[in-house]
Amino acid sequence: MQRPIGTDDATNRRLWRLVGPVVVGAGIAVLAALWLITDYGSLALFLPLPTVLVLGCRYLRISIRIRSANTGSTPVSAVIIATAVFLPPPFVILSVAIGKIVDQSLNRTHVPVKIGFNIGKEVLAGAAAAFACAATGFEPLLVHVDRADPLTSALSATVVAFLAYTVVDELVSQGLFAMLTGTPYRQRLVADWNILAVLRVGTLGIAVTTVVLYHVNQWLLFVLPLLLWCIHLASGNRIRARQGNEAWQRLAEATDEFNSVDQTAVLHAAVRKAAALFSTDEVEVQIRPPTGETRLVRSNGRDILYDGTPEDAPPAGGFVIPISLESYRGDADLGELRLRFRAPVKLTEREGYTLHTFAAALCTAIRNASTFAETQRLADSHARAAAQDPLTRLANRRKLQQYGDEVLAQGIVGVLLIDLNHFKEVNDTLGHSAGDRVLTTVGERLSAAVREGDLVARFGGDEFAVILANLSAPALAEMRAHAILDALAPPIHLDDMRISVEASCGVTTASGGTIGELLRRADVALYQAKQDGQRVVVYAHARDTADIGTLTLGGDLARAVAEGQFVVNFQPIVDLATGRVIAAEALTRWHHPDRGDLAPDRFLPAIERSGQLSAFADAVLDQALIAVSQWADAGHPIPVAVNVSPRSLLDPSFPDAVARRLAARGVQSSSLIIELTESVTLSKLEVVDDVLAALRDQGIRLALDDFGTGFSSLATLARVAVDELKIDRSFVAAMNASAPGAVVRSTIDLGRSLGLVVVAEGIEREDQRQQLWELGCPAGQGHLFARAMPADRLLAALRRGHDGRPGCLAPPLHDTDTVIRLPRNRRSRRSAAAEPGQEWTP
Ligand code: C2E
Ligand code: CA
Ligand code: CA
Repeated sequence: MQRPIGTDDATNRRLWRLVGPVVVGAGIAVLAALWLITDYGSLALFLPLPTVLVLGCRYLRISIRIRSANTGSTPVSAVIIATAVFLPPPFVILSVAIGKIVDQSLNRTHVPVKIGFNIGKEVLAGAAAAFACAATGFEPLLVHVDRADPLTSALSATVVAFLAYTVVDELVSQGLFAMLTGTPYRQRLVADWNILAVLRVGTLGIAVTTVVLYHVNQWLLFVLPLLLWCIHLASGNRIRARQGNEAWQRLAEATDEFNSVDQTAVLHAAVRKAAALFSTDEVEVQIRPPTGETRLVRSNGRDILYDGTPEDAPPAGGFVIPISLESYRGDADLGELRLRFRAPVKLTEREGYTLHTFAAALCTAIRNASTFAETQRLADSHARAAAQDPLTRLANRRKLQQYGDEVLAQGIVGVLLIDLNHFKEVNDTLGHSAGDRVLTTVGERLSAAVREGDLVARFGGDEFAVILANLSAPALAEMRAHAILDALAPPIHLDDMRISVEASCGVTTASGGTIGELLRRADVALYQAKQDGQRVVVYAHARDTADIGTLTLGGDLARAVAEGQFVVNFQPIVDLATGRVIAAEALTRWHHPDRGDLAPDRFLPAIERSGQLSAFADAVLDQALIAVSQWADAGHPIPVAVNVSPRSLLDPSFPDAVARRLAARGVQSSSLIIELTESVTLSKLEVVDDVLAALRDQGIRLALDDFGTGFSSLATLARVAVDELKIDRSFVAAMNASAPGAVVRSTIDLGRSLGLVVVAEGIEREDQRQQLWELGCPAGQGHLFARAMPADRLLAALRRGHDGRPGCLAPPLHDTDTVIRLPRNRRSRRSAAAEPGQEWTP
């Protein structure tokens, strides 16, 4: 416990500097009073009355503590003011002096400086009240007992006496307070004005009542002591009751704020509330929780003055009332709550109870908070362990899947699967710890290369995954993948070695579905990247072999080609205006003996890799040409469109193979359209250019399939001279949405301005047909007109026609004899321009 303020010698000396003049002034006043009092003759008999009243007030003390200052309130000020109205100044001075001296001599605990102050202050204030009254020309009431003064002059004298008393009292108290506490008195006035005002008003009230009673009947003056006693009892009870109620209410409020699981919130609330509750100058709480660090929080009630380790806390002096923080059962001691005062203070019994209750509640709150924090910490570390790759501290697969599913619901998501090339060699030659350092560095670089909202994960081994969240367009994923891989390019320094890390990356994007499927696709793309020796490969549905790998293993393919398990069906392409069939697209199915019908998406990638591609392509072309000649013989000379794998275009002998097939089946080259899907290979390699040029030179038309789905449709178009554009069915299906609608429109416009035929795929409804036609799209195919079917069935349909019009599969959009002219070829380089198929009339 610290040494209470005001007991050391230095403070004492400072206090005497203030109290000295007060005592001297009071002494002079007393001497003057003794000398003057003889002038009043028999009136001197009245002196014992106020003296006894002043002394008696000590038994009517209501003690109110405001922080460390005990504002003891007795009616003595009221008695002194009233005396000043009833008796001349010497009586006031002497009665106060004698009454106070006796009063103080009955208290044995006081130090001389305080006794001197208490007596001197009252004498001076009383003298001020008496002389102020005299200065107004008012003659004290008892000087001429039988005169009939108006009540008002007595009352104004009372007010004057009150003001004079109050001013002197406040001035002297102010000096003392400032010396004791080192803070300006104004601060106290502001903080406690309400209590101080109540006390002053009470004083004035008692003085005024006394004067009024006397005015009513002089003998009532003798009832005054009784009256004072009643007032005292009543107000004392009221103040105590109010303080009591307020205290319980504030205690309830304060402990209410402990309802937090956050330790900081609990501690801050505790010190703030305790400062108000116990009217302290400062409160601090020091805790030593079972886990965590010792902590000290200090507040003056308004602000948190300190929060940190006790060692670093600025020193705090004054009088301290400590209470240890233990539970009700006393079984846990968490630290200490300390009430700090500038001067010694004794808590009342009620305050003592409140303090114990407060401390116990605080103890419980701290324990709850630290239990919660501990639980939280454990939960966090478990969650982290469950979601983290221990080596790189990146997310693990589980975390990535969880996050992936979240962001997939929000927009376009890209998934990159990154695999380091030749990592095994690093591990084998340099050891596992070197391998670990490479992986850690790669993890750091990947994390630095992604954007906010993206997530980098390690799947184990040398496989990493990145989620690109909220992409504005799918095409961005590939660019970002390149940028992220670039971050891995700088060599990694391991001791004295520089290791350069290369990686392959599979990319896929989606705006829905499951992250599991996305990861599978990224894996397919990554596999292809490794196979092809490419850095980044974007997943293409057509190359997804899923479970086809097992099919190819059994040598099924070769047998399938030989046995003709590949069946070519034909889907008619119609003139949108008239409904007349103007071509047919060959679409292949694999009638697999065990697996039933397989769509091209399922088997094409396997065929492309198997070495059976040219045999397959040849078989398809052959069936297509047989169909063409069959239809022509039957009077329906429509061309056939055959899909060609990009890989076929890498084969320089392909054009010759086609020429041979055409010759063998006696079909003109103008009856063959070759459909190309744009691909990286297509636009990059010289051999492709040569193959395409050779095909064109034979008079075979080229169509660019799935226009708009690739990343470089326009670039491809600039490089490869084609005759037809095919709008992918995904755009047609979503034509009414803004982006796909724009693609449809611009493709049609582009086709028109370049002089190309535009064919819309996947037309399923009449309104789509109408809309496309209005946009200027001349031709289309889709379930609205017909599905793909065997050649003979298509021939039957052509013969039958629609509504008595052979060669047609749909009613015309308009009855008029519309003639649609095919746009002139952009390079009019062949005689085919004048052939019958070029001009369609209903
Ligand atoms: P593609 O060239 O875009 O063919 C159009 C696809 O859309 C065909 O699927 C066709 O059946 C389908 N389709 C046609 N009309 C509609 C419609 O109104 N609604 C819907 N939902 N779908 C429609 P298919 O036959 O599964 O062919 C898939 C892809 O496989 C083709 O896309 C083509 O790229 C490729 N392919 C098909 N046959 C061959 C072939 O013999 N050789 C090569 N290299 N590729 C082929
Ligand atoms: Ca096609
Ligand atoms: Ca297509």
